[in-house]
Amino acid sequence: MKIVVLKFGGTSVGSIKRIKNITKIIISYLKKRYKVVVVSSAISGETNKLAKLTKQISSNFMPSEYDAIVATGEQVSCSLIAGRLNDQGYLSRSWLGWQVPIFTVGNHSHSRIVNVNKKNILKFLRKGGIPIIAGFQGINSENRITTIGRGGSDASAIMIAKFFKAEKCIIYTDVDGVYTTDPNIVPKAKKIKKISYEEMLEMSSLGAKIMQPHSIQDARLNRIDIEVRSSFKNISGSLITKRKSISSKNIIRGVSFTKNDAKITLVGVKDRPGVAASIFEPLYKNSINVDMVVQNISSNKKETDLTFTIKIEDLKKTEKLIKGNKKIKFKNIVIDEKVSKVSIVGVGMITTPGVTFRMFNALARKKINIIVISTSEIKISVLVDRKNLKKAVDVLHKEFKLDY
Ligand code: ADP
Ligand code: ASP
Ligand code: MG
Repeated sequence: MKIVVLKFGGTSVGSIKRIKNITKIIISYLKKRYKVVVVSSAISGETNKLAKLTKQISSNFMPSEYDAIVATGEQVSCSLIAGRLNDQGYLSRSWLGWQVPIFTVGNHSHSRIVNVNKKNILKFLRKGGIPIIAGFQGINSENRITTIGRGGSDASAIMIAKFFKAEKCIIYTDVDGVYTTDPNIVPKAKKIKKISYEEMLEMSSLGAKIMQPHSIQDARLNRIDIEVRSSFKNISGSLITKRKSISSKNIIRGVSFTKNDAKITLVGVKDRPGVAASIFEPLYKNSINVDMVVQNISSNKKETDLTFTIKIEDLKKTEKLIKGNKKIKFKNIVIDEKVSKVSIVGVGMITTPGVTFRMFNALARKKINIIVISTSEIKISVLVDRKNLKKAVDVLHKEFKLDY
């Protein structure tokens, strides 16, 4: 059986007109003799609305109930797609995570898919049916509804492609591929024909919303090629694949950025072994992700200043945990909510000297102050004032010859 998995994102199913449009795409694959498995997100904006309702009822909404409510968005879009296909004379029906079932492990809202039951869907495909599966959701061993992180329908599609041994996995979205940076922000961004899993994983972890980071990890582990293309324009997109299949002269593949960072500095922390662990332990226990960290030794060698970044949505909770932490002593806490992280990504930097210098020099020329730096083998990130964000992205995009 020649199977293709087609995933449609929120904007692609954003209105009745758009749903009618994507059913044409689905039908075009049937005509190419594919068995089509569809994975859909909720209509754009719906998941945010549902999440907001939970906050209005309680600031402490149970994670299991949060998943139960935010998973409902996908039920609407999947049913509408199936309904339109039925209307056009095709056999189709929707499948929610629990109906498949799609099994997940891990905490609510951050679960991971570990298995997909194929039996009933295969039977339906053999009958000529088009299954429309809800992305973003599954069930756990206690039979509770789970979700797999915001933007998670990408990962649903990839795991479904893995379990069904699909020939292709195509992500249909509102841009026509993966670009060197967000094309909605930087008009000079260029489409990337082929990008490695490693580079895509860094780019999305560092802020490129186009693909959810977990989905790229799953694709890399299972060697699933992903095609990213537009549901609005029928033009070729981008391929996310293994590094070996790509040849490129570019040192830097792309520039990613975030807009929702916050920086916390603890001034005059009593310095003793284990102090950093005492600061971060309660954050870890509350699932708060600490990103960049720098520690300065002060001149008297008894105290230190410690700076770290987190997501803005975790700021209030983090501040409360730090202030209530009896295991640490510090003089002052300074918070900056107006910072952003800009990163350059590319496997080419492993073998090319001088990339760090070029990055810092380009930022200096534009008088952009670097607040914190962090690096890995294939990325360099800097924290800057948010007012400098666009300028920083533009200058780095140009410096590394990515401009269109
Ligand atoms: P979907 O709802 O289809 O999952 P998303 O909104 O999650 O779509 O992702 C698509 C968006 O990702 C684009 O509209 C674009 O603004 C943004 N984006 C960020 N970085 C990039 C990039 N490097 N290339 C393409 N799009 C990007
Ligand atoms: N609807 C979910 C979200 O908004 C999943 C997705 O769009 O991929 O996060
Ligand atoms: Mg998405």
